[in-house]
Amino acid sequence: MTIHPIDVIQHKRDGLVLSDAEIEGFIQALVKRDAEHPTPTDAQAAAFLMAVFVRGLNAQELAALTEAMRFSGEVFDSSPLEGFVVDKHSTGGVGDKTSLLIAPIVAAAGLKDPMISGRSLGHTGGTLDKLETIPGFRTQLPLEEMLAIVRKVGFAMAGQTPELVPADRILYALRDHTGTVESPYLITASIMSKKLAEGLNGLVLDVKTGSGAFMQSYEDARLLAGLMVETGELAGTRTVALLTAMEEPLGRFAGNWVEVQECVELMQHFSPEIEFTLSEEKLRLSADLLELTHALAGHMLHLGGKAATPEDGADLSEWMLLDGSAYRKFLEMIQMQSNSWEAARAALEHPAEFHRPAAMRVLEAESAGYLAGMDCRQVGRAVQRLSAGRAKPGDPVSAHAGIEMHVKIGDRVEARQPLVTLFSEDAGLLAEPEEMLRETIRVEQEMPDRAKLVREVLRR
Ligand code: URA
Repeated sequence: MTIHPIDVIQHKRDGLVLSDAEIEGFIQALVKRDAEHPTPTDAQAAAFLMAVFVRGLNAQELAALTEAMRFSGEVFDSSPLEGFVVDKHSTGGVGDKTSLLIAPIVAAAGLKDPMISGRSLGHTGGTLDKLETIPGFRTQLPLEEMLAIVRKVGFAMAGQTPELVPADRILYALRDHTGTVESPYLITASIMSKKLAEGLNGLVLDVKTGSGAFMQSYEDARLLAGLMVETGELAGTRTVALLTAMEEPLGRFAGNWVEVQECVELMQHFSPEIEFTLSEEKLRLSADLLELTHALAGHMLHLGGKAATPEDGADLSEWMLLDGSAYRKFLEMIQMQSNSWEAARAALEHPAEFHRPAAMRVLEAESAGYLAGMDCRQVGRAVQRLSAGRAKPGDPVSAHAGIEMHVKIGDRVEARQPLVTLFSEDAGLLAEPEEMLRETIRVEQEMPDRAKLVREVLRR
C-alpha cells in the first residue's frame, strides 16, 4: 500500500496511532530508498516532526520510528564478532570523558565495543574532538576497518559514517530549525537509532540531569531514560539507564587534549608496569570521574555476563585499571587507528608535557567559604568560548584550550585560592570565559549538600 506523507501527518496531528507501515514508509521515502511511496517534502517532514512533538508517540510507534531510522542506511554488522557486543551512550556533559576509560576497560574484560561517538556542540564536549588531539589519530573509519579493529583489540572509537542512519541527519537538521529538538520521543529515536545501528547486545545509557545536562529537570531526564530503555528492549538490546548528576565538570579537566591527558594519567597511575604517580589531590579531583566510569562499566560487564551483579562489575572494572590491561588495550587501539604511532606514543607517554596552550590564566576565590555550586551549562559555555567547543556544527575546535578545576562542590576554599585555570591557544580569548566563570562559580559560607552522582538506575 502506498503511504502518502500527508496522511501520516494528518493521522498524527489528529492523535491517531500510526501503524508500523506508515512510519516505515514515511522514513524510507524520506531517505529515498523506496520508490513506492512519495518522498515527503521538507515542509511535510517538518510538519510530521511538529505533530510528533505535540502528540507524542506510544511505545510501539517509538519503536517503529527508531527501527525505521536505524535501517535507513547502512548498519554496523556485528555478527562476525565473537562475544557480547556492548556500548554506552551519554546524553552529554561538561568534562565527561568516561568513554575514553570505559571502552578499553570493557574490552580488557572480554566484551566487544564498537563505539561510534559524536562531536562537541554548544556547552557539551565530544569524544571525537578529544581523540583527534592525539597526533595522527583517525576517527573516520570505514565500517569494515572498524570491525577488524574491534575483532582484534575488543573496541574501536570512530565517528558516524555518512551512510549510517541518514534519516537522523535529515530530521535533526529540520528539528534544529523548527523548534522540535526538545521532544523526548524525537531525542529517543535519534539517539537509539544510531546506537542500535551498531548491532548491540547490550547498551548502558548515562542520562545526565542538573544544570549542565541537556535535560535539566530530573522529571524530564527520567522520562527520556525510561523511553530509551523501553525502546532498546523492544529492539532486543538489553538496555539500562543511569540517571547521573551534572552539576559541575566531571573530573579535573574540561576541554579536548586535557581530557585525554586526565584519562591517560589515571590509567598510567594505576598500571603496575608504569612509573608514574598522580598526587592524592589530583586523584581526589578525578574521583567522580572514576566513580561514574566504574558504575557504567559495571553495568556493561554485568549485562555482558562478566559479573554477577553491577557492583561486582564495578569491582572488575577497577581491576582492569589496576592490572594495567585497560591501558594496554587503549594503546593498542590508538596504534591501530593512528597514522603516526611514534608521534602519538610520544604525546601519550608524557601527556602533561604535550599540553602546551599559548596562554593561561588562574581564577582565584575572592573570599573564603565553601564551593557552593555553579551553573554547569555556563561553565561548558565558557569552555566553548575558549574555543574548545563549537557553537555550530562544522566550526573548528582548539586542541589545547580548556579548563582545570582545582576544587569540587563542597570543598573548603580560602581567599585567593585558585579555583580554575583557563587554557587557550589565543590570549585574547581568555577574558570573556574568565568573566563567565567568575559570575557563575559561587563561594558561600554554608557548606552545601553534595548531590549523589548516580541518582537512579532504570531497567526493564
Ligand atoms: N543527541 C542526539 O543524537 N540526538 C538528539 O536528538 C539529541 C541529542
